[in-house]
Formats: sequence, structure tokens, C-alpha cells
Amino acid sequence: MNTALMIIFFLFGTIIGSFLNVVILRYRSGRTLQGRSMCFSCGKTLTWFELVPIGSFVTQKGKCAGCGTHISWQYPIIEAVTGFLFVALYIRFAYLLTQIPLLFAVLFGYYGFIFCLLLVMSVYDLKHKILPDGMTMLFASVALIGMFLFKGDALILHIPSGWDCVAGLLLPAPFSLLWLVSKGKWMGLGDAKLMIGIGFMLGLSAGTAAILLSFWIGAGVSILGILGLALFAKQKAVSLKTAIPFGPFLAFGTLLVFLFSVNIESITQFFAR
Ligand SMILES: [Zn+2]
Repeated sequence: MNTALMIIFFLFGTIIGSFLNVVILRYRSGRTLQGRSMCFSCGKTLTWFELVPIGSFVTQKGKCAGCGTHISWQYPIIEAVTGFLFVALYIRFAYLLTQIPLLFAVLFGYYGFIFCLLLVMSVYDLKHKILPDGMTMLFASVALIGMFLFKGDALILHIPSGWDCVAGLLLPAPFSLLWLVSKGKWMGLGDAKLMIGIGFMLGLSAGTAAILLSFWIGAGVSILGILGLALFAKQKAVSLKTAIPFGPFLAFGTLLVFLFSVNIESITQFFAR
């Protein structure tokens, strides 16, 4: 690992992150990805300087240079998150960079695409409380192709073994049932659709671990959130009906499992100690 490279990957990530912001903003809005970005309030076309990730937000103190309207924190946050994501992926595959640079590039590109897609889905879910089919199905398709191409960190065309082959269908099954029984109240069908990709990408053991982790993290955050609301917002009736989108937790659980090679065996061993 190399500090200079980490900084380069971070900066590269912030540039991709600012593109992801555009994708999130324009998805299903009828606007294409072409055309210059502009301020929503005054319509001022942004100059190259105002498009610099994070930096422009800081120097302009979060305001449009034309009209002074506040710019959403979403922009610098997504840029920074993508930056850290790229650093994490670089660290994950750094051992390959000098030995087999082409394999590094393929793995970084493939998983970079997948986690950027998961990030876009997460933010979309947070903003609109929905995981669009177009995104979950794109993830499932890319993960399905990867299942035949990647064996661990190796690039080999192969038939995946036994349970891993059907993990993409097994993992979402119980949650689709929950959706059906609760008529969509306990769980969105979008979450189950997201699990198709998780299953294909991680296999049965690691995929189960990712879903478990996301439930635990989701539960922890929800409890903290409810406590926080009860303490500070002085709301009398804070219920779990204050729907918390589950997509971001699934994405985060998937990232953790992928980066730290967690699977169901390592989780059971952790609790057996
Ligand atoms: Zn403006």
C-alpha cells in the first residue's frame, strides 16, 4: 500500500462520485446524462471550477456562486463516500497491482461499478423510499455474469459450485414471502430484488452473512434513531412505522462482507468464542 496512490484513488473516487450525484439527480427525471450541470434556483451553468468535487463546496461555503442558494450536503457527502470506497477497493486489491496490473484493473473496475451502483441505489432509496427495478435488475445481471467469471480474486470462466449457483434465488425467497404475507408493510419487494444480486455476487454463505449484518446494523441504527427522536424531537409517538429504507443497510452489509471476507462460518465462530 502506498499513500500517494491512496490519495490518487480517493481523488479519482470523488470525481466518479460527482458523476453519481448527477445520475441520482437525473434518474427517472426525464433528463439525460448529457448537458452541463446548473443551479436549480437561478439556472446558472456551473463552471469547471464549481464542478471540482468537495473543493468547490468548501470554497463556496455550500452556496451557489450565482444566487447564494444553499447546495445540498448530499453532493460533497456522496463524493467523499465514493472517494473512501475507491481507497477501500484499492487496499483490497493492492497486492495485485504490481504483480498482475491487468487483473487489478479488471477487479477494480468490476467491483467499483457494483459498489457505485449500490451507492446510487442506497441514496435513491433514502430520498425516494424505493429501489427502482432498473437498478436492482442491473445489479443482479452484472452479479450473475461475475458469478461465472470470478473465482475469489481470480478471473476464470467456470460453473459456480452447488449452493452458490442458486444463492441469488434462495436468499430473496423468505423475504419475498414476508413481503407477500405483510402486503409490503414489513419489507419492500425492492429489498428482496436487491438480494438476488447479493446472492449471485457473494454466494450463499457470505450472502447470508451480508443480510444478517445489514439487519443488525439496521436494527442498531433504528434503535439509536428512535431514541434520538424521542429525546430530541419530543415526539410522543415514535413508531417503527417511521419507515427506514433498508437498501442502504443491505449495501453496507455487502461492502463489509466483501472487504473483510466475512461469511456465515466466521460469524458463528465469532459468537462461539
Ligand atoms: Zn444559483
